[in-house]
Amino acid sequence: MKTDGLNKWIKEWYDLYEDELKTMMHDIWAHPETGLDNKYAAETAAAFARTHGFPDAMLMRAGQGIQPSDNPNTVFATYGSGKPVIAIVGELDALPQLGNEAVPERAAIAGPGHGCGHNLIAGSCMGAACALRYAMEKEGIQGTLKLVEAPGEEVGRGKSLLAFDGMWKDCDLCIMWHPGTDGFNAEPQLGLVIMAAKFEFFGKSAHAAGAPWNGRSSLDAVQLMNMGVEFLREHVPTTDRIHYQITDGGGAPNIVPDYAAVKYFCRGASTEDAKDLFERVCLCADGAALMTGTKAEYGLIFQIPYFYVNVPLGEHLAKVSQQIPDVDYTDEEYAWAKKLYESYFEKEAPADKDELLPPAKKTFEGIDPVLTCTDAADMSYFCPTAHMHGGGMLAGTPGHHWTITACSGTEIGMKAAVRAGKVLAEGAFEAFGDEELIQKCWDDFKRQNIPTYEELYDLPLKPEAF
Ligand SMILES: [Zn+2]
Repeated sequence: MKTDGLNKWIKEWYDLYEDELKTMMHDIWAHPETGLDNKYAAETAAAFARTHGFPDAMLMRAGQGIQPSDNPNTVFATYGSGKPVIAIVGELDALPQLGNEAVPERAAIAGPGHGCGHNLIAGSCMGAACALRYAMEKEGIQGTLKLVEAPGEEVGRGKSLLAFDGMWKDCDLCIMWHPGTDGFNAEPQLGLVIMAAKFEFFGKSAHAAGAPWNGRSSLDAVQLMNMGVEFLREHVPTTDRIHYQITDGGGAPNIVPDYAAVKYFCRGASTEDAKDLFERVCLCADGAALMTGTKAEYGLIFQIPYFYVNVPLGEHLAKVSQQIPDVDYTDEEYAWAKKLYESYFEKEAPADKDELLPPAKKTFEGIDPVLTCTDAADMSYFCPTAHMHGGGMLAGTPGHHWTITACSGTEIGMKAAVRAGKVLAEGAFEAFGDEELIQKCWDDFKRQNIPTYEELYDLPLKPEAF
């Protein structure tokens, strides 16, 4: 017997604790942290978990093994025992320079902000895990639920470090959700592969006016490398993406710098494309060093691997989503969204509410290729993995943006996270009792001949390198 497409205990949990869950999401939103340093967010999420059925929720640091840490960035908790093992996964990190008030216009707050809505991901995961645990207890469900709030997605490392910790190796399914500017959607997104690298150049310093002939400029090398890459751009597959950031350009204009550095993200549609692109970018670095009489040193700092998507799991979650009512935004919330639209696009907002805040997708059409990527891909080497997406953001706005920071601090984002959490909880609840479904997901997993994680990472990756 289901109400609103949900097991009655899952529904009851949300009826009781939805407001408290939103308070937690807002708290994480108001304390944005970047990279792998999501201590406040982890502590906030762990405190919630401890009072909602996971008294032993552990605060740990990804990459240091599954054990308590006093400098934590990850929350890990389990409930139940035996097979199947289902992980519900969240994220905690924010982005630099995207701070904004939760108002429908640009009102910058200095510093980072939740410009990708990961506070909402934290809330979707937490709500889902707590509601599911509640239902499992009430109904005596067999199996193990894992709750994992992961750090550092934006630096491509959190779920990879957790993979090295052994977090995913016993899982039968890993499921999560990410907000987006389209409507909620469980179609598996096939993203790009990233190879991220740091390039350092070592030259000779000199007085930039008095004796520049004695200098060998490492900044010249960085600039010539970047120039080479700009020409390279024309001659790579159209799905390749290359972006860089000069992280060190010397100390002062009047010193020829003996050290400069640049970080690169090389993205391709396949492992081969990304690898080929990375190797050609390295040649640009070698050429620049040769031209400037400097020395180049470089190495990978992380990769986001190919995401082996799982269609049967996506199909199952899409079916669950279709039985759950859509987010019910109020007239005031639509008016807020309209104002944000007009402030950002500088034109009149569409009259159709669905064009502002798109509804959940009602169909399932299979794999959806996209140009972004996520470290959820790392989990897909261990078990069938789903990364649902969409909802909680204004349609048409760019990702990684202050408009998303604004939405993520309001009911616009948080209502979407609550609904997504219900899909996760109900999807997992039904999977616990459906051996055939799990088998179907695993058949699809095995059919893809996925390399092992060890085969994927034959590179010595140091967590502190990035
Ligand atoms: Zn994100």
